[in-house]
Amino acid sequence: MRLVDTHAHLCDEQFSETVDQVVARAQGVGVEAILNVGTTRASSEECVELVKRFPHMRAAVGIHPNYGHLAEADDWAKIEKLAELPVVAAIGETGLDRYWQDCPWETQTDYFERHIALAHKTSLPIVVHSRDCDAEMVAFLSTILPRYNVKGVMHSFVSTWEVCRACLDLGMYISFAGQLTYKKQTALREVASKVPVDRLLVETDSPYLSPEPQRSLRPNEPARVCHTLDVLAQTRLVSPEKMGEITTENAYRLFPRLAGGQNAP
Ligand SMILES: [Zn+2]
Repeated sequence: MRLVDTHAHLCDEQFSETVDQVVARAQGVGVEAILNVGTTRASSEECVELVKRFPHMRAAVGIHPNYGHLAEADDWAKIEKLAELPVVAAIGETGLDRYWQDCPWETQTDYFERHIALAHKTSLPIVVHSRDCDAEMVAFLSTILPRYNVKGVMHSFVSTWEVCRACLDLGMYISFAGQLTYKKQTALREVASKVPVDRLLVETDSPYLSPEPQRSLRPNEPARVCHTLDVLAQTRLVSPEKMGEITTENAYRLFPRLAGGQNAP
């Protein structure tokens, strides 16, 4: 079974003692690449350092929309510097968030466009977070993205088909996390059944979003991406092995630098 976890936060403090075992367990079930995603200048630096230890891991560097207001004056310049490193495979996590109210909206949109511009400049894809802001996200992406030559992923996608289709039309990939496995998320599985097969990705968003049937096990970890993949396969009426092939190929197409690891073909 081939698997790629396209979104994990392995520099979260919950993994500080266990990261080697966590990575080994993932490799044990066939996870052949992991994108380790930063959320601040400091965590982006840590992500870069961590992935240097694992040939099948790459980093995403950026400032998460919930942390923009905490960034210091030279943090963005440091992110731009990190983005030049060959172990960096994506720009993010960036995006918009109306659920948490801490970061002013203007700060969020300012940083979001900076990430898109940096992705354009470095020819790297963006990793987009969107929470409780469907209309604003579609409006922002529709306005800003066409100004740049940038592709990316809507990570942990949980919105409607209408939002999904708008993102697809803009060239974005759609990544599903543990929510896809939750009993109540029938509408989300319906969305997942309609996404073009060459735009589907899976992720864990570790340490968050533990999938069924291990929802109570925390922290979540990349080895459990197989559960989300299984549900996606059922939804699409194909075997898990086939869906593993499809999502792995898609991951390497969107994130070419992820494919450079020792376990990759
Ligand atoms: Zn994340």
